[in-house]
Amino acid sequence: MSSRKNNKTKKINPKYIFVVGGVMSGVGKGITTSSIALILQSRGFKVTAVKIDPYVNVDAGTMNPLEHGETFVLADGLECDQDMGNYERFLNTELTRTNYMTTGSVYQSVIEQERALKFGGKCVSVVPHIPNEVTERIKNAQATHNADITIIEIGGTAGEYENLLFLEAARLLKLENPADVLFVLVSYLPIPSKIGEMKTKPTQHASRLLNSAGIQADMIVARSSHPLDEVRKQKLSTMCNIAVDDVISAPDVDSIYHVPINFEIDNLSTKILKKLDLRPKKRDLKEWTSFTQKIDGSTKELKIGIVGKYFNSGNFVLSDAYISVIEAIKHASYFYKQKPIIDWIDSSEFETDSKKLTNLKQYAGIIIPGGFGERGVEGKLKAIQYVRENKIPYLGLCYGMQLAVVEFARNVAKIKNAHTTEIDDKTENPVITTMEGQDINIKDGVMGGTMRLGEYSCEITPKTLTRKLYNLAQIQERHRHRYEVNNQYREELEKAGLTIAGINQDNNLVEIIELSNHPFFIATQFHPELISHPLNPHPLFKGFIKACQKR
Ligand code: GLN
Repeated sequence: MSSRKNNKTKKINPKYIFVVGGVMSGVGKGITTSSIALILQSRGFKVTAVKIDPYVNVDAGTMNPLEHGETFVLADGLECDQDMGNYERFLNTELTRTNYMTTGSVYQSVIEQERALKFGGKCVSVVPHIPNEVTERIKNAQATHNADITIIEIGGTAGEYENLLFLEAARLLKLENPADVLFVLVSYLPIPSKIGEMKTKPTQHASRLLNSAGIQADMIVARSSHPLDEVRKQKLSTMCNIAVDDVISAPDVDSIYHVPINFEIDNLSTKILKKLDLRPKKRDLKEWTSFTQKIDGSTKELKIGIVGKYFNSGNFVLSDAYISVIEAIKHASYFYKQKPIIDWIDSSEFETDSKKLTNLKQYAGIIIPGGFGERGVEGKLKAIQYVRENKIPYLGLCYGMQLAVVEFARNVAKIKNAHTTEIDDKTENPVITTMEGQDINIKDGVMGGTMRLGEYSCEITPKTLTRKLYNLAQIQERHRHRYEVNNQYREELEKAGLTIAGINQDNNLVEIIELSNHPFFIATQFHPELISHPLNPHPLFKGFIKACQKR
């Protein structure tokens, strides 16, 4: 027995890499984190990623996607930050709620423990109890995924009041395990147009701000529009107290999926593994590389329109609010060597001017993604009618499915004033209505984390296009909704020609609809975009893109 034990390879300590931001937000910390995770995975290690969101919101379900970005949903139903989607897409893995925390969720559990007398009568203090809870959660994520390396992205930038306690947790973890914790500062080097020269000073300040939190960066990923030259690398090395070799140049790239490849041109994984005293295995990035080659070879343009209610809000980035939809379109497009050109179409313009509907003709296909509330709904309904009648490929996602049912009910099944009770709770024909148990949540205002969330199974109807595309009878997909197709109208809708292509058997819920007299008209109650992967595009998006290509 004992000799077998001796033969075992030495067990390595779990390693932790913290990714923190400097200078400003939005410079690609999430993509850097995902890319580092991927290149370490490609060297044969088990890697998991944790996102820390400094907001007081308990989860991302209550944050406005136009301000905070898309609300991503995990298989286990957690509503979280869009970066979690990037981690899943890059690592090609499924994460769990252990991989995400917010200030709100951390405080909530410390307070719950306090109420349950778990602190044995002690005063519960911000320090150390909050950082302790944070490190416990990081260790829990490591243990859940049995990870060799856990990479933790701390939201915000160094010097912000909001993420101080998370930096404090990171510092304490390093103190406890000096050889097993690494810090990567992702910073930004501006090139002011009037000066025309890349400036290192903001990054020097960011590094000092980290120092004042007791943290020394081990590496700096220097984001800029251009590559860093040796002079700047040297300067950052001197001023930020790190080796020249540990300043990583990360210039802008056309596609986020090229970032890991670029990192490896600089041998980043080898550098990191050396610092962590881990013996690297041979790199395996074959599949990823051939995927990026496909991107480079995708030159034929395909115009896709995404119809939604978009404007009237201050500062926001639309592509962030629908990042998973965009990425799913890209995965499927690259699969067919197409370069997608995505246009945002504001549905409210169809409400004031129906003639504008003919603009939709220029698109290879139209998507109506998830959404909530009244604004722009009548315009979306008009757009759906137009694409249905003019045989333009249509993919409806969640709200885009519910509204497709409303449109079909009104204009094909001739069900008068059909509507969703989300908009009109007095409608005489509620073809879309609240799911069981949701009325009480809405009435009592219990809205956080109470939608139908996460993975549920769906039985696909034989002899449908959907069945052909999946080539499966049973699937699992992720959800986020309160409303559903009203079963009382199912027969009437089916008689009028609507195909129910997927059902959740446990609760008898309609999950997928399609139209057979149309080149491609499929809409789902779930969000297929959430599980599309670069190396494994989603079958429904593949079907949609193929139909677009044909058009
Ligand atoms: N508002 C709809 C519902 O709650 C659709 C939600 C969504 O598109 N994610 O059911």
